[in-house]
Parts: sequence; C-alpha cells; structure tokens
Amino acid sequence: MSPPRPIPFIDLKAQYGRLRDAIDRRIRAVLDHGQFILGPEVAEFERALCALTGAGHAVGVSSGTDALEIALMAEEIGPGDAVFVPSFTFPATAEVVVGVGAEPVFVDSDIETWNVDPADLEQRIAAVEREGRLRPRAVIAVDLYGLPAPYEALRGLAATLGLALIADAAQSLGGSLDGVPVGRLASVTATSFFPAKPLGCYGDGGALFTDDARRAELFRSIRAHGQGKAKYDIVRAGRNARLDTLQAAILMAKLEVFADEIAARERIARQYDRHLAGHVVLPARPQGARCAWAQYTVLVEGRDEVCAELKAQNIPTMVYYPRPLHLQPAFARYGTGPGSLPASERLSSQVLSLPMHPYLEADTCDRIASALISALGGRSPVP
Ligand SMILES: *Cc1c(COP(=O)(O)O)cnc(C)c1O
Repeated sequence: MSPPRPIPFIDLKAQYGRLRDAIDRRIRAVLDHGQFILGPEVAEFERALCALTGAGHAVGVSSGTDALEIALMAEEIGPGDAVFVPSFTFPATAEVVVGVGAEPVFVDSDIETWNVDPADLEQRIAAVEREGRLRPRAVIAVDLYGLPAPYEALRGLAATLGLALIADAAQSLGGSLDGVPVGRLASVTATSFFPAKPLGCYGDGGALFTDDARRAELFRSIRAHGQGKAKYDIVRAGRNARLDTLQAAILMAKLEVFADEIAARERIARQYDRHLAGHVVLPARPQGARCAWAQYTVLVEGRDEVCAELKAQNIPTMVYYPRPLHLQPAFARYGTGPGSLPASERLSSQVLSLPMHPYLEADTCDRIASALISALGGRSPVP
C-alpha cells in the first residue's frame, strides 16, 4: 500500500491560487511605476495596518527582527541596560538585545499559557535591581503561537517600574485581548511578515505600531539611515531597514482575505481541540484572548516517537522551539543554567506543532488528529 498523500505544514500555494489575480496585478503595478523603495504601496499598506489594528501609526520595516531592534534603538537602550525576555521564544527576541549592546535577562513562561509569566518577571526585575550591575529598561513580551501575552499585568508592571513594554507580535497579528487588537496592547508593537506568519509576504518584511507620533517619527528615521527632515540631514546613526514596495504591494492583496483567513484558523483550531481533548495538553484559551493561530501546538509525552510515527504517515510536524534560549550556546552566558527556568525547559521538551493554515481541509484535519491519537498509543496527556 502506498503511503497516504503528503500534507503540507503550511500551504502558501493554496493561498496564491486564491489570490493570484490580485497579487499579480499588484506586482505589475509596482514594476510599471518603478518606485521600489518607499513607493506609494508602503504608505498605503501602513494606512491599512492602522485601520486593521486601530494603532495611531504603523511603520513598515524590513523584518520582524529589524522591527524589534528599531524599537530598542528608539528607546536608546544599550550597554549597561537589562531587557527582560522570555527564554521560550524564537532567537530574534533576545538577539536584538545583544545587537544594541544591552543584556537579555531570561524570564520563565507560564506553564498554562506558555507566554511570559508576570510573577517570574517581577522577581527577575527585583533580582537585577538588587544586584545593581544592570539598569532594568525594557520588557519584550512574545505572543507565542499567536496568543497575546498577559498585557494587562505586563502594562501594570512596566508602568510601576518605569520600563518600556515592547510586544513581539511576530506571530499574533490578527489576534486581540479583551477586544483590543494586537498592535495596541503595548506602547510599541513589532510584527513580522515572514512568509509563514499569519500575514506573510514573499520575502522578509515587518512593521512597528505605536500610538505615539514622536516614536513613529523615530522609527521612520531609524529605518532610513537616521534621516532628519531632508534626505541627507542625518540626525542619528540609523539602519537600512525599510519595507520593500513589492512586499507592501503583495501584502495589500493578502490583506483583502486576512480576516477570513484568521476565522478559518480559529475554525481549524476548534476542530483540533474537539478531536484531541483528553489525549494531549491543548493550547490555552485564556478569557478574553483571541489567538491568531500562527501555530497549533500541543504538549505530548514521548515526542520523538510520536513525530516519527506521524512522519511515516506523511504528516509533517514541527517543534517550536526544541531548546530554550538560556540553554543555547549563543545566550548561555546571560542565563542561569539548566533547571533555572523549569517551565521553559519542560515546554521545549514537550511542544509539538501540527499543520495549521487557513486552507487546511476539515477531512485533512480529521486525518491528522486521528493519526496523532494512534501515534500516542494510549499515552495519557502529560500531567
Ligand atoms: C518570526 C519571529 C521573529 C522574527 O521575524 P523575522 O521577520 O523573521 O525577522 C521574531 N520573534 C518571533 C516570536 C518570531 O516568531
């Protein structure tokens, strides 16, 4: 018997099939007008992002990583400063801190939501203050897999302690918390348009959101070499970090169906939940939170065997992320070693992401869930 039909983990071809005419038309328009750098589509897309999120200002940049770095540069964070970041995240969240010369301080995750744990954050800030070597300056919260971090608690902590709160919303554009869209949950929000993100372009891209006009001006200046009022009026050392016109044009076409795609992701997540309840630990659904479902991730025991079993059935899975940053060679010197962030370490060993994209058919979702249940071979959900 031949193995069952392969399933893509993310199906960008299905999306292009749906949007081909609009995307091709948008790309041709850019080729015709030829304004490849900061052309009219960039400003058009920035206005559309403000409409989508309710943010006062959106600034298109070259990637999610650059968005985070620009956010830190705008706060003038550098040597001697501590920036608090979760350890259980994509490396960019911490690498930008090192990039500006500051030090990342790793914070543990909440074992229920898998996002940063505000109680642990508070303790780690206090420890840095006691030690006195670094100045606590900022917190970068990550909306892991698309679920907004606990911003109410984080905003309170940041305000009390005078820290900047930056949202790493690379995975969560389209989500919301208590009716407030991602983009307005922190004073600065960074997102990514990497192709596999909920709103992805055809290359690298990102954006910054803020309600503060002064900050937005700083972001615009930094993304264009530190430009002042005129092109060669250079008022700070900046970067080359603009969003390409072509990517903005592609994103404009994709925005037309974005709300519909987020709704489709929610539908698929519910379907996985129904099948898998009682078999694995399901992703949390905190009161008031709407997840963008960049990933559908569960916790399993015996992950390696489960993955191998699914692979034999032509079902791809991914592990985001197999090792927390405080145990990565590049970042270990900023961390406190194995055992110091128990939730992050446990999550890294048990998370498993299943195929998730808006074009996943209901029967494919059924097939994936049944294959996972049989691969678990009666293992009970992790305690
Ligand atoms: C993807 C991602 C980034 C980086 O975005 P790029 O556009 O790839 O630079 C940062 N943080 C998180 C949590 C991400 O998932």
